[in-house]
Amino acid sequence: MSARLRVDPVACDGVGICAHLAPDVVRLDSWGYPILPTEPLTEQARRQAARAINGCPRSALFVQPE
Ligand code: SF4
Repeated sequence: MSARLRVDPVACDGVGICAHLAPDVVRLDSWGYPILPTEPLTEQARRQAARAINGCPRSALFVQPE
């Protein structure tokens, strides 16, 4: 099943831990907020995304099935 990584912009605090946990999936903008891939996650990207989701202190990241 196809899915995308999403962020709740209200919950996100912009500290950027997600980019350290999933460097191939998440980039940061100049304020430290995540820039997420616009394409569906590959299996490898999904594993990295899971690390970022589990490590996000604000529970701001989630995977949205398509
Ligand atoms: S780890 Fe969570 S709260 Fe921190 S920048 Fe990433 S998505 Fe936002």
